[in-house]
Amino acid sequence: MSEQNLAVLYVVATPIGNLQDLSPRAVAVLGEVSRVAAEDTRHTARLLRYLGLQVPMLSLHEHNEAARVEQIDACLAAGESVALVSDAGTPLISDPGFVLVRELRDRGRRIVPIPGACALVAALSAAGLPTDRFTFHGFLPAKSGARRAQLEALAARTETLVFYESPHRIRDTLADIGAALGERDLVLGRELTKTFETFLQGSALELVARMEDDPNQARGEFVVMVAGAPRREKGSGGEVEGEVLLAALLAEGAGVKQAAGVASRVLGGARKAWYARAQALKDAG
Ligand code: SAM
Repeated sequence: MSEQNLAVLYVVATPIGNLQDLSPRAVAVLGEVSRVAAEDTRHTARLLRYLGLQVPMLSLHEHNEAARVEQIDACLAAGESVALVSDAGTPLISDPGFVLVRELRDRGRRIVPIPGACALVAALSAAGLPTDRFTFHGFLPAKSGARRAQLEALAARTETLVFYESPHRIRDTLADIGAALGERDLVLGRELTKTFETFLQGSALELVARMEDDPNQARGEFVVMVAGAPRREKGSGGEVEGEVLLAALLAEGAGVKQAAGVASRVLGGARKAWYARAQALKDAG
């Protein structure tokens, strides 16, 4: 193997609060590489100082990521390994790095993950919500209309839903979750691994009320985890799935009888019962 093939882009997870969560392997890699590509070099400089390391850095954020690809590829071509870090947690998870990793992978470069902290995984591991199936949706839109629309599109999903949120929007987002998803079990992981780490559990509206009572509960960084819609056994006439399926079929121009037949085949249950529900949906417009 030529020397250039030995050079690696390491994707290094850094702590989300508690510095002791940095793995010994991550420390070794940060000490070995020729350069660290960092989301915010001032932020990462503090981490490197804490570790007693002096490594040249270059910034890599959403506005210059594409331009940095050539520079980092040139380092790798010269046989010099590079570490990619973000401000906190795992790069590429609601953080920069996707463009770089994708492009370097397409060019056949070696890319090695150095795993560690990730807020959504830490939060799920302690929330007590089902984790056999979950989906991560990053940050919801900042504008309430778009946020509501996205939440409504998720309303029938049966897996646990996970979101990131900032202190500026947490109350509005919880209120929209309550309005769009209704009464559901929700767990809020706040300031994970930090001094004021808190898990709050309740319905979205109960948690908004908790924040009204104690504004400190609205401070810091949040992972919002929401239980999925109840799963229905096949044949029980699944309320949510059935409603969505019927509405979609009718919207596509299917007749009431045809929609009832499809729903009965897909979800089970009596065709007659589906017919009545489809007719009711049609009547309601
Ligand atoms: N790459 C990071 C990761 O692996 O989790 C996520 C970066 S994203 C820009 C920042 C968001 O992650 C915050 O707004 C918050 O929603 C979540 N987050 C990060 N650190 C957290 C913490 N200590 N406690 C709770 N949420 C956190």
